[in-house]
Amino acid sequence: MNESSQSPKSLYKNGEQVPTSGTYQCIACGNRAYFIKGDIFRDCEVCFAGTDDGPSGFDNTDKEFWKLIDAQ
Ligand SMILES: [Zn+2]
Repeated sequence: MNESSQSPKSLYKNGEQVPTSGTYQCIACGNRAYFIKGDIFRDCEVCFAGTDDGPSGFDNTDKEFWKLIDAQ
């Protein structure tokens, strides 16, 4: 009875496949990067979110931090 409980995804993590080409922003530090559909999200080169060296709250690979801000 309760089968449609999926919400649209808005954040992505290191190692995940890019669903849409466009500009993404790291919500941990505000850095922006362009990713192409089919590519793999990487860690943030500015604050290292998505790695063990990332800022507090973003210091593991399971944390989603890339946010799509401008699809192209
Ligand atoms: Zn960052």
